[in-house]
Amino acid sequence: MTMSHNVSGRAGTTQIVHLLRNYPHLSRSELATLLRATPATLTHQVRMLLDTGWIRETTARRSGTGGRPRMGLSLDNDAVYAVTVSVGLTTVVVAAVDFGGHIVALREIPHSMSAIAQGITVINDAIQDLVESLAVDRQKWAGLGVAIPGIWDPVSKTVVFSPNLPEWSGMKLGELFRRSSGIETVIVENDADASALGELWFGAGREVQDMMYVLCDVGIGAGLIVNRELVRGQDNSVGEIGHVSVNSCTGEYRCGCGRVGCLESVASLTALNRYLAEGMTTEAALNVVADYFGTALGSIINMLSPQVVVLGGATLQTYPVLWTLLVQSTRGRILQHLMHKTQLILSPLGVHAPLLGLAALVFEQRIQSDQDTHPGTVSPAQWANPDTDSLKFY
Ligand SMILES: [Zn+2]
Repeated sequence: MTMSHNVSGRAGTTQIVHLLRNYPHLSRSELATLLRATPATLTHQVRMLLDTGWIRETTARRSGTGGRPRMGLSLDNDAVYAVTVSVGLTTVVVAAVDFGGHIVALREIPHSMSAIAQGITVINDAIQDLVESLAVDRQKWAGLGVAIPGIWDPVSKTVVFSPNLPEWSGMKLGELFRRSSGIETVIVENDADASALGELWFGAGREVQDMMYVLCDVGIGAGLIVNRELVRGQDNSVGEIGHVSVNSCTGEYRCGCGRVGCLESVASLTALNRYLAEGMTTEAALNVVADYFGTALGSIINMLSPQVVVLGGATLQTYPVLWTLLVQSTRGRILQHLMHKTQLILSPLGVHAPLLGLAALVFEQRIQSDQDTHPGTVSPAQWANPDTDSLKFY
C-alpha cells in the first residue's frame, strides 16, 4: 500500500500517526516508502512526535533479518486519551479512547435527548463517571468529541439544523459542553461524518482514497471522503442523503425537514416501524425500505463512483436480513462498469465508528497544537515547503 498524500507538515504528521496505528513497528525507511518520501523529509515530523511523547522507538526481532534486532517506531497508546460521545435520540454512548484507537471504557445510557438541558446533564454525568473510573493522569485527556444527529457548522460553531432533535437546532454546543464539562478542547461533528472518519482511519476505509459512509438509523445521513479528506461543502452539509427525494407522492409521510418524499421519511427505522404498525409483514416492510434505499444509493454511486460504500446504523443492526436486500436493490441500479469497482461493506465498527472518528479528530487537534508550540519544530510555513530533493517523489 502507498498513500498519495503530501507528507510535509500537518498532513505528514497525521499520515505517520495513521500508519503507525495500523502497522506498529515500522522503520523510518518503511514509513518513507509508504509515504513516497525520503527518510530525510520525515525527520522533522518523526523528531517532533518522539520529543513530545506521541511515538517511541522500539526494537524487535523479525524473521528474515537473521534474528538481528531492528529499530522501529510505534505509537505510545497511553500517551493521550479522548472522551467521545455519540448522541442518539433515545440513547447516548460515552467512551474513553486511547491514542492507539482502543476503546478502554464505554457507557451506554438510555435517555431521551429531545430536551437539550436534561440531555447535556445526562451526558456530563456520564463523562465525569467514566473519567473518574479510569486511572489516567488528568493532563493525558486531550479533549472531548461529540457526534450529533444534525448539521453542524464549525465556523459559527452552532447546530444548523437537527430535524430529529429540533430543540438542539441553533445551539452553540461546543461552548455549552466546554462550560458544563470543564474540558477545554471540544469538537462537535455530524454523526454520519464522524462515523465516516472512524471507518476511514480505523475500519473499512483504512486503505482506500474515496469512500462514502451511510448511516441507516432513525435519521439517514452520509459522510463523503475524497482523497482521504472529509468533504464538507458550504455550511458543512454535504451528505444529507436522507433528504434526497425518492417519492414525490408520499404526501401522508412528512419528513422532519418539512417536505414530502425524502428518503428518511420512507426508509428510516421510524418509517420501518410505521409500516409494521400499519400491519405490513416484516418481509414486505424490509423490501420497501431496501427499494427506496437502492433508488437513492444507486443514483449516488453512479454519480460519485466511490471505491467503497460502508453502511451502518441501528436499522441494519436490528434487522440483519435487510443487508442482503439492500445490496441487491442497490446493485440492481448501478452502472455495469461499477459493479466490480464499488464495494458495498457492512460497517465493521458498528456503534464504535463515530466514537473512534471523534477520537482521531481530538488527537489530530492536540498533535497540531503540540506542533505549533513545540520549540524543536519548524514553523507551519516552512513545513509546507518540502526540500527540493523530495520533489522527485511527487
Ligand atoms: Zn427531508
